Amino acid sequence: MNRGTAGPRVITLSRANHYNFSGGPGALPESVLEETQRALLQAPGHTLGLLGISHRSPWFRSIVDEAEANIRHLLHLPRNYRVLFLQGGGSLQFSMVPMTLLRGSRRPAEYIETGYWSQKAIVEARREGPVRVLWNGSAEGYRRLPRPAELLHRPDAAYLHYVSNETVEGLQFHRLLGNQDVLRVCDMSSDFLSRPLDPTPFALIYAHAQKNLGPAGVTVVIVRDDVLQRAPRDLPAMLDYREHARMGSIYNTAPVFAIYVTMLVTRWLRHEVGGLELMDVINRGKAAELYDAIDSSDGFYRGHAAPGDRSLMNVVFSLPAPELEALFLAQAESAGFHGLAGHRSLGGIRASLYNAVSPDAVDALRGFMEFFRRRHENQREV
Ligand code: PMP
Repeated sequence: MNRGTAGPRVITLSRANHYNFSGGPGALPESVLEETQRALLQAPGHTLGLLGISHRSPWFRSIVDEAEANIRHLLHLPRNYRVLFLQGGGSLQFSMVPMTLLRGSRRPAEYIETGYWSQKAIVEARREGPVRVLWNGSAEGYRRLPRPAELLHRPDAAYLHYVSNETVEGLQFHRLLGNQDVLRVCDMSSDFLSRPLDPTPFALIYAHAQKNLGPAGVTVVIVRDDVLQRAPRDLPAMLDYREHARMGSIYNTAPVFAIYVTMLVTRWLRHEVGGLELMDVINRGKAAELYDAIDSSDGFYRGHAAPGDRSLMNVVFSLPAPELEALFLAQAESAGFHGLAGHRSLGGIRASLYNAVSPDAVDALRGFMEFFRRRHENQREV
């Protein structure tokens, strides 16, 4: 830990992956990177390297099966849910969900607009049918989430959609939304498998891989069987969850690399970390450390999100002046901390603390933040 008056710890290039605070694609466990490197030349249990193996091979089938089994185990997922590995990122789910559940419906879908990504989901849903935005945080600059009394759900909704963790603004729901009358759909792209989750209140959950799960290129969809039956019959096969479920996620050429790494990460979570309860303890500790650095900075660092709605995954904050932010980012980068610039739509600083970011890395970042504040505290008006 470095909280003394000496400069920030200088981090060597070989440790760069360790100090990756990027919003995504982000940090992956060191052991997974090493195993992936070996598999590129020769995959375990196969004679070929990972990138040359057929998606129709029994070997790849076993990889998809293990990835699914790991996710089922981590979530205690009941048998009436399918686990699908799809392409098109979180963004395609913004369309596939309403194509499946809203196309041709007179009943509106309920959406909650809590930030950049839920707003994008709403734009796509409106192409497919009526949307009722239950709550919109844009007038308040997406700094907080709705309180329970502000959400008047109606039982006639086709479904309810929300984003559990707004990656850009650093807002995270710490409770379940909606009620039993309406199908719940949730975009968990940036907090999936970061904490324990009871999947049973959800009709559909989706999460792209490039935060907590692996590289870009694959999106996990968990969908309850009865939702599959509601899909219109004339959807293009690639946009039809039923077709992907029927083919066990290998309808067309699947992203072998991305699914392989996702399998390794879920194996790591299951066997090395020891499950989601333990992951949650680690993640809470990391977030508490950075929020404490913000809260004890006498207003030098300013958190974006209302304290009760703070994300454990994305810590978003600003400094007293844009010039200080630029200096912070430049010095952080040269001290070896990567990916700290805020999202292009918001600016400021964002430290993403996904599962693979170690407490040690967060500790070092806190040390840097304190060092920087002490040096620049009297320059608030630069
Ligand atoms: N939802 C959330 C919560 C996200 O953070 C993102 C992207 N970071 C998306 C959806 C869009 O995902 P993709 O870029 O994979 O389409």
